[in-house]
Amino acid sequence: MISPITFDFLMGPPNDLVLLDELECHLAKSAEKFIDEVVKKGFAIESLDFECSYSPILARAKITGKSTYKITFGRTLTGAIFNLASSIAPCLQKEMTGCSESETIGYTFNYISWLILLHEVAHVTHGHLEYIKSNGSNDYHEVNNQRTPLIHLHTDQEESKRFWRALESEADAYAINASVVTFRYINTNVWWNQLKPQAIMHHHGAMASAAFHLMHMLANGHDDFRHPAANIRLGISLASIETLAKRMKWTVAGTVEEAIKGHYLMASDILGLHVSITPKLEAACYMLTLDDVINRAGFSQFRIPIQLS
Ligand SMILES: [Zn+2]
Repeated sequence: MISPITFDFLMGPPNDLVLLDELECHLAKSAEKFIDEVVKKGFAIESLDFECSYSPILARAKITGKSTYKITFGRTLTGAIFNLASSIAPCLQKEMTGCSESETIGYTFNYISWLILLHEVAHVTHGHLEYIKSNGSNDYHEVNNQRTPLIHLHTDQEESKRFWRALESEADAYAINASVVTFRYINTNVWWNQLKPQAIMHHHGAMASAAFHLMHMLANGHDDFRHPAANIRLGISLASIETLAKRMKWTVAGTVEEAIKGHYLMASDILGLHVSITPKLEAACYMLTLDDVINRAGFSQFRIPIQLS
């Protein structure tokens, strides 16, 4: 178990700027390739740019023109991912046979970045940005730790909260599944390449847990209104993993079990957080209402058409 991670530690200066520059550069190149080969071929999008910028923002998705979009990761976010990766690497390394500490940092940075990137891509491809625009904002900041006023998606604040959380859950569902099958776009780790499906899901569960807990920690204690708690997001993600396991013809129960073990490995054994079964039960109740909330919110009219080419 590591020392407790604090907001100030995540915001602090990364201890290896050369390595962080290399990882950011690799992330940008991998994202560009993935967007060209997968996103733009699959969806009717004119352009989708991705950049890492030296700015104090965390993650932003923006409509820049007719059918053109931009996703930006600020150095504040990549620095925080790097700091978390450096902190957990000595513990995680024990699970990654033959990997050095710097390889473990690189793998962790790549995985968490990829999950967050694909979550932002989903906000674009699922028409969420147009939906948010129809409610008055052209710009979407993923984490709000500045108490910036938020737009509401319904005049009833509780319904607005449900709509926001449904929108975030759709983005999570895409990111959780797509990251498993497309991690090869960013991966440089030969250890990961030889993993069997259940071991992949174990490590995927650990990285999803790290990513969701990181996003929660970056909110710095503010209720950002939009995202379910990290452990509930992880519980919800199990439905996506079950769907993926069926599609890939993996053993469903074994695959989901490995993902859950991965969640606990990261949250409890490495990050030292208290984890109870309650969020998993709350996630199951939440899933029962999700389709109805998505219908009420009316996301469907904003979906980006899928290309059949
Ligand atoms: Zn989001």
